[in-house]
Amino acid sequence: MRIAEVYASIQGEGQFAGTPSVFVRTTGCNLRCWFCDTPFTSWNPEGPQLAVADLVRQVRELGIEHVVLTGGEPLLQLDCVPLCKSLLAAGHFVTIETAGTVFRPAPASLMSISPKLANSAPAQVGSAASLRWQARHEQTRSNRAVIARLIEANEFQLKFVVDELSDLPDITDYLAGWPQVPGERVWLMPQARTREELEARSDWLEAEAVRLGFRFSSRWQIAQFGNQRGK
Ligand code: SF4
Repeated sequence: MRIAEVYASIQGEGQFAGTPSVFVRTTGCNLRCWFCDTPFTSWNPEGPQLAVADLVRQVRELGIEHVVLTGGEPLLQLDCVPLCKSLLAAGHFVTIETAGTVFRPAPASLMSISPKLANSAPAQVGSAASLRWQARHEQTRSNRAVIARLIEANEFQLKFVVDELSDLPDITDYLAGWPQVPGERVWLMPQARTREELEARSDWLEAEAVRLGFRFSSRWQIAQFGNQRGK
């Protein structure tokens, strides 16, 4: 698998926020969200190919139960299936963080799905590459059939990135198509790549999450480290 980094930290988002975790960050993504906080896995993917056995060994050496397979888009990589099977067999709790655009039968203790809505579109800067990514992102970002399969096969949570108050109707409209998803599995997170962005959006978004019957998730890693890599 192509891997950007493996490191120990604290899960910063969603229902296991605060839990010590090993992060296995794959590189490569089929989207180009303008707010991507890991451009080294999307806009400029970097990192070596590593064998599943090597990854399992690295994770085991860190001695932490929770493992977060994240990206980039981890479900793009075929080896995510044997990796998750091996980690689960070794007794780990495995969270997969995905945008839910690709199905892969990778078993997880928690499938953490962050659907990308219209507010994620990459900025149009006029270059041919930018225009190509705008079109590809728009065609790829929403795949309800994939999310239905992921939800059916796993415990799950849905996380939405919110930049502005005006993003909320898009989220509630989207969720109207998922009446089987209870509000307690839906997390609203501030769009933030810096502490300042996190602070600017947290208070009003927390109040809106309560009003709408959803959960609010801060982003612990941004609050602690800004957007430092490997933290
Ligand atoms: S899906 Fe995630 S990794 Fe991919 S571009 Fe969007 S924010 Fe970045």
